[in-house]
Amino acid sequence: MIRLYNTLTRQKEEFKPIHEGKVSLYACGPTVYWFAHIGNVRRYVFDDILRRVLEFNGLEVKHVMNITDVGHLTGDMDEGEDKMIVAMRREGKTAHEIAKFYTDAFLQDVDRLNIRRANIYPKATDHIPEQIEMIKHLEKNGYAYRTSDGIYFDTSKLENYGRLSQQRSEEKKAGARVEMGEKRHATDFALWRFSGMGSIREMEWESPWGVGFPGWHIECSAMSMKYLDVPFDIHTGGVDHIAVHHENEIAQTQGAEGILEANFWMHSEFLTVDNGKMSKSLGNLYTIDDLIAKGYDPLAYRYFVLSAHYRSKINFTFEALDAAQNALTKLRETVRDWDEPDVGCAELEEKFLAAMNDDLGTPQALAIVWELVNADLPTGAKAESILRMDQVLGLRLKEYVAHRVQVPSVVQDLVEQREEARNAKDWKRSDELRKQIEILGFLVEDTPGGSHIKKF
Ligand code: AMP
Ligand code: ZN
Repeated sequence: MIRLYNTLTRQKEEFKPIHEGKVSLYACGPTVYWFAHIGNVRRYVFDDILRRVLEFNGLEVKHVMNITDVGHLTGDMDEGEDKMIVAMRREGKTAHEIAKFYTDAFLQDVDRLNIRRANIYPKATDHIPEQIEMIKHLEKNGYAYRTSDGIYFDTSKLENYGRLSQQRSEEKKAGARVEMGEKRHATDFALWRFSGMGSIREMEWESPWGVGFPGWHIECSAMSMKYLDVPFDIHTGGVDHIAVHHENEIAQTQGAEGILEANFWMHSEFLTVDNGKMSKSLGNLYTIDDLIAKGYDPLAYRYFVLSAHYRSKINFTFEALDAAQNALTKLRETVRDWDEPDVGCAELEEKFLAAMNDDLGTPQALAIVWELVNADLPTGAKAESILRMDQVLGLRLKEYVAHRVQVPSVVQDLVEQREEARNAKDWKRSDELRKQIEILGFLVEDTPGGSHIKKF
């Protein structure tokens, strides 16, 4: 049995797909105007763990992730600057060039973190007609009104607006100072925006209401409906999506189709850096490229993310990343010396699966991995089990299990000579021999149990 925390009901529920054996999963994807930072990436690792757990349980997952390549505004509440236009100005490129470049960069991070790629990455700009169609539907059903700058969704018309964040319109208005403009209610939001009078936008489209561009919530309602039947099984995002973006997606699909968009709504918590917000001005905004440049393996970052539950905040520090890198290195080196996989250890595998099926308990699952590593069992059994566990963890352990380092005899001879030199306390000779070994591409480590040889 798989149990998942559903933000909609604020509790863990048994997950049962709508269609037996198949899961429809929609994940809000990146706005492709800049590199993903390590906080963004945490969210995509969470999606990946969810998907791998479902697949490990024998379910077939259809995973859709949108690519937001229409500039929406920097603020949640239809205010601020258009992110894509900011990027175009910064880099002197067209919107298309910006979107292409950062989509490629995003997919590169996805691959480097061993995140399984979604089945479909629909782009907002390829689905303008679908978005217009949905807004027409909302208009027909009486949920839309016009102001001088766009078409808005009237949230007062929907009886249970605010059900996801469990906040009513008036409370939101009191809680946040909202730029009302001509909006009728604080929570109303743009479905379509008109291009400014006289100003030229590179990204604008004809519509029944006038030339303009879609509001930023409509693409997810329109594209999830296009690629998955609504209601679909699971919708994911970051916790920042709960109050506005997902609330509004629910409202749009409810208003246009009269149904709840998805049964399960799952949200991953934020990552902080040095216990605070990440920002470029503080110099603590890191990308996966930055971590690689500092000598870290992207999978060490993945390990770090897995060490916390997705619904807990996680604080990034380089000490914590060092610890994750060390743990991963130790794991790789240990499994290298194991025998070829044979029958596994059912008891620990079951324990592992139970932890994962209980709302994706990755910290517990990692603890069980170490329990397996330290267990007094034949290494072939451990190898089989760890490979199965790694189908969910995604640490690419297959590349290491039972891949003992083949040490050429010349290197072996040098190592032995070095050990003799060390026994005779001839440190100069021992250092010379170490250098020769390194030239041949091997590292020698002195451990209490004797010399340990690694490939460079
Ligand atoms: P954006 O590309 O800015 O729309 O953000 C993409 C995703 O990253 C969203 O799902 C956010 O929820 C998530 N996100 C942004 N900042 C953080 C953070 N510091 N920690 C975790 N997730 C974040
Ligand atoms: Zn979305």
